[in-house]
Amino acid sequence: MTSPEYNNVGFIGLGAMGTPMVGQLAEKLPKEARIHVFDVVESAVDEICSRYPNRVFKGVNAKDVAEKSEIILTMVPEDAHVKSVYVDGETSICSTDISNKLLIDCSTIDTATSLLVKDYINKNFPSASFYDAPVSGGVIGAQKGTIAFFLGCSDEDPNLLRITRLLSMMGKEVIPCGGPSLGLAAKLSNNYLSGIIAIACSEAMDMGMRSGLSPKVLTKVYAAGTAQNTICDRFNPVPGVYPDAPSSNGYKNGFKVQLMRKDFALAVDMAHRVGARLVLGDAGLETYEGASQDPRCRDLDSRVVFRYLGGNENWQEKEKP
Ligand code: NAD
Repeated sequence: MTSPEYNNVGFIGLGAMGTPMVGQLAEKLPKEARIHVFDVVESAVDEICSRYPNRVFKGVNAKDVAEKSEIILTMVPEDAHVKSVYVDGETSICSTDISNKLLIDCSTIDTATSLLVKDYINKNFPSASFYDAPVSGGVIGAQKGTIAFFLGCSDEDPNLLRITRLLSMMGKEVIPCGGPSLGLAAKLSNNYLSGIIAIACSEAMDMGMRSGLSPKVLTKVYAAGTAQNTICDRFNPVPGVYPDAPSSNGYKNGFKVQLMRKDFALAVDMAHRVGARLVLGDAGLETYEGASQDPRCRDLDSRVVFRYLGGNENWQEKEKP
């Protein structure tokens, strides 16, 4: 690609997701493009800049990155960080003139905060455009460039093509979800469903195993029956069923249970706000809150709920001939 429309790209938030996303951009943007980055953790900035000299440049704060870039991406943990990066204080993105700039927030936050930031930008810089674009696919997906973006944007939006081309350098799919904040609504709804399935799968496996069934047989049964789903097939919560699942590797390198708790709570809040009735919301939230605080589960993949609920992880011992 040799388009001048990506000459200066900004990226703020160089954590588990942001750093590999910048790596993808550094590999795939046109040769002349420069990437300006900032994180409150200076070592994260220094590390990526030294990995890509003359390509990735250190910004002193969010304002500095915004001044030097025509498109700015953000990838920070929670709503308070998004507010701080965009609107609060003297070094935020909006403390400089961002007229005509494109701003894309990839953080998973609540829809109300995202709309608040968008409204603030629309009011103060009418020619700037702000989009929510949360991602799915995890750290490994970010490293491989295979994440999916759920974009809060309509099919008719004049910026859609430009945004899609940029995001496609970091992921395999960009799904326009219809309008502002709907990318986030889609992401929260997805993670609610995925979180509930992981709990249900753990409970169903546990009851089957306690009744004498092998978890491998149970998994075959679900796959052939009406319970077939991706969590059982590829992220099975029982260790040793699917070799590549985080559960089979000590529940490591997955989607941290604390992140699931955060997303699940955001989804339950959203459901309350829009008047959707949940019968599983409180039970799910309680489970992920408990698992997040349990030292046996904290910092591990969210499918560790199987352990939290008392499932037998050592079933292979018993099955040995
Ligand atoms: P992380 O905590 O690893 O990284 C966040 C980075 O933001 C950190 O480096 C932090 O220093 C930086 N930061 C915080 N406040 C800042 C500020 N004011 N200015 C500049 N930098 C700031 O988090 P992550 O795992 O990269 O996740 C980022 C977002 O992506 C979260 O909303 C998360 O829910 C979402 N997400 C994560 C995953 C995953 O598997 N990790 C998957 C999908 C979506």
